[in-house]
Amino acid sequence: MPDDATSRPQPIVLQGIGVSHGVVIGPAFLMAPETTFVPERRILPAEVDREIARLERSLIETRRQLQQIQKDLDRHEILVDSGILDAHLMVLDDKAFIDEVVDGVRKGLRNVDCVVKEVADRYANVLNSLDDEYLRERMVDVKDVGRRIIRNLSGSAVQSVVELARQHIIVAQDLAPSETALFRREKVVGFATDYGSVTSHTAVMARALDIPAVVGLGDVSRRVSMGDEILIDGNKGILVIHPSEAQLEQYGRVAEERRTIEHDLRISLKSEPAQTPDGHRITLSANIEGLEEIETVLEYGADGIGLFRSEYLYLASQQTISEAAQADVYRRVAERVAPAAVIIRTLDLGGDKYAGDMPSHKEANPFLGCRSIRLSLQHPETFKTQLRAILRASVTGNIKIMYPMISGVAEVVAANVLLEESKRELEAAGVPFQRDVEVGVMIEIPSAALTADLLAPHVKFFSLGTNDLVQYTLAVDRINERVAYLYQPTHPAVLRLIKQTITAGHAHGIWVGLCGEMAANPLLTPLLMGLGVDELSVAPSAVPLVKDAVRSVSYLRMQALAELALACKSPEEVLRHCRTLTSEVAPELLELMGADPSAGN
Ligand code: PEP
Ligand code: MG
Repeated sequence: MPDDATSRPQPIVLQGIGVSHGVVIGPAFLMAPETTFVPERRILPAEVDREIARLERSLIETRRQLQQIQKDLDRHEILVDSGILDAHLMVLDDKAFIDEVVDGVRKGLRNVDCVVKEVADRYANVLNSLDDEYLRERMVDVKDVGRRIIRNLSGSAVQSVVELARQHIIVAQDLAPSETALFRREKVVGFATDYGSVTSHTAVMARALDIPAVVGLGDVSRRVSMGDEILIDGNKGILVIHPSEAQLEQYGRVAEERRTIEHDLRISLKSEPAQTPDGHRITLSANIEGLEEIETVLEYGADGIGLFRSEYLYLASQQTISEAAQADVYRRVAERVAPAAVIIRTLDLGGDKYAGDMPSHKEANPFLGCRSIRLSLQHPETFKTQLRAILRASVTGNIKIMYPMISGVAEVVAANVLLEESKRELEAAGVPFQRDVEVGVMIEIPSAALTADLLAPHVKFFSLGTNDLVQYTLAVDRINERVAYLYQPTHPAVLRLIKQTITAGHAHGIWVGLCGEMAANPLLTPLLMGLGVDELSVAPSAVPLVKDAVRSVSYLRMQALAELALACKSPEEVLRHCRTLTSEVAPELLELMGADPSAGN
């Protein structure tokens, strides 16, 4: 008889990059990359009926799954327009499609799986070649349904996270923003990926969901099997497969302590202002990706929304969203947080964020390519649809517009021209809107930081997007774990650009915020405030920690720290000064950040 020690698999510990704090233990859900290879097999005439029966069972199962997903999405208000599932169901009802598959099996004497793929691909190609944009968009639906039917033919039980019956930790090679956009806390309690780094969108999403995550684990998706018990420590960047009893107990205790400190901070600071002991106040707002985060924003005591990443509406629905549907979402956010502001960032697609039907081209360097405001300016109709939607909503609450990825004055001017056109169109249609809605830009390219004095006269505020600013300043891909050690927000070059932007903004009388991930690291709060930021915008769950940091240090000491930091020769030296100050004034924050307090750094 094997004893207990030998019957339990040995723990395997993997080291990665912790990108979202906390500890979680649970079963793994392995998300395999989409396989497009469908084996082809010749069948005997006697096997035809069996193949067709398989097809019928698969169609019934596919319909059941799609209806279930639709119900789920509606319940969570994930999809602004859950019509995509209607389109999928329509493909299942398409008699010509089904007849062609049945015919293909009977006449071609081949397994039904490969015939479904062939027919779906043929339909998709025909749709893709049509002039009608709506029909062209249906290409994605036909392909998706085809894949689902094929997977159901092979009897694969669970195909997507939305279908999980209980909470799991997602393990994957990598996660696309369009996948994470569908994750909800009740199904997903953590993620672990082979690739990625601190500011990849997967990491941003983990923090938005407030669940622990470790990325850059190398080959975790090959080592873990479906259902394995795993433990994730998002503070230390560790993942343990088959944790031992001792590890479970130790981590359970750490998680509990952390929860208690966070809970106490949340309760005690919720209604307190983000103000230093000597009376210097900043706006501490939250970054959100969708409607469902708003309650957390309010619960955690944020002063409004400093960054609404509107592209997630597209990523979640996988298709363009009508003006009315967008306006409805913006209105609801604005109403809920009023009188506080909500800053709606216009679409920031491209780079690593692709929405199913948005025009995109294969690019050798997508982060340097047609992303963000460049994409919007090249598709003025889609951009104006969004601008009109924001304007429509601007009569409720306190809405501001922010353009992402601005590299120089010409882009702001071009975007503002389209904004003016949008206003005229609404005026002509008799639709009310806020004429003087405030417009700001993100400073996330070095050229924008260096010419902030030229940009300032065209806008009412700046928001430093340090996730990208660091990437472009240091030439370090923000999602590449192999160069993650070079991704250093406290690099002297970055600090100088931040300082220069703030100085230029203030000289022109406009406020300057910072909404990149470094804003959520409480160890850096005194430094950023000392440099002069007027606003910090962070994931909702980071609000209490950052507020604690703001309230722990005098503004005078923050300014002294910033001066010291600007004279430092290395990122590590800057970080050391920040850590020393925090250990003196708010040791509880050091404890919460774990042994390696490097989030956002
Ligand atoms: C940034 O670049 O800092 C930012 C906030 O935008 P995103 O992370 O969405 O690119
Ligand atoms: Mg950015």
